[in-house]
Amino acid sequence: MRIVLVGPPGAGKGTQAAYLAKNLSIPHISTGDLFRANISQGTDLGKRARSFMDAGQLVPDEVTIGMAKDRMAQPDAEKGFLLDGFPRNVGQAEALDAMLREEGLALDAVLDLEVPEDEVVKRIAGRRICRNDSAHVFHVTYNPPKSEGVCDECGGELYQRDDDSEETVRTRLEVYHTQTEPIIDHYRAQGLVVTISALGKVTEVTARAMDALKKSEG
Ligand SMILES: [Zn+2]
Repeated sequence: MRIVLVGPPGAGKGTQAAYLAKNLSIPHISTGDLFRANISQGTDLGKRARSFMDAGQLVPDEVTIGMAKDRMAQPDAEKGFLLDGFPRNVGQAEALDAMLREEGLALDAVLDLEVPEDEVVKRIAGRRICRNDSAHVFHVTYNPPKSEGVCDECGGELYQRDDDSEETVRTRLEVYHTQTEPIIDHYRAQGLVVTISALGKVTEVTARAMDALKKSEG
């Protein structure tokens, strides 16, 4: 299957992408990984991406599109892939459509993870990270530490990342609404959008997604 995963920040997109790709035996292609791989391997696209990032500028769509194209041409992506973070605007979606059309291929589904906005803010703004180890993650409501502000694992101090402040989350949601949500309409016109609720346990959401994808196939 060729799938695009979309959803607002805080929807648990990365986690779901990893589980779904594993269940479907297709590679999970995330923009974050693409950038890291191209930069660490020193590819031309990686070098170009880096020059923009170092200058504090957004990486142009053509660079991201080029990386995605190279990755989708790898043998493991022949039978399908799950895209996470790409396309992130209508321009990229149109480029992806053209890319697939050239190969005589098409997307099978666009899986849209839905989370109410207030829930997104609650999820992200409640996150607390340990200063000693960023893998020690807590949540003031959903996964509170035994003692407030103190890491259960190592006793380190818990803090809120700047990225996780309510104000930043609202800004990220605004960017999602204006840039990324229009791709859902773009794909709805092609009859590809499958919307599921991303509320509940990780395993419940994965099961819901697998179910919806199976139904969309039939
Ligand atoms: Zn810790």
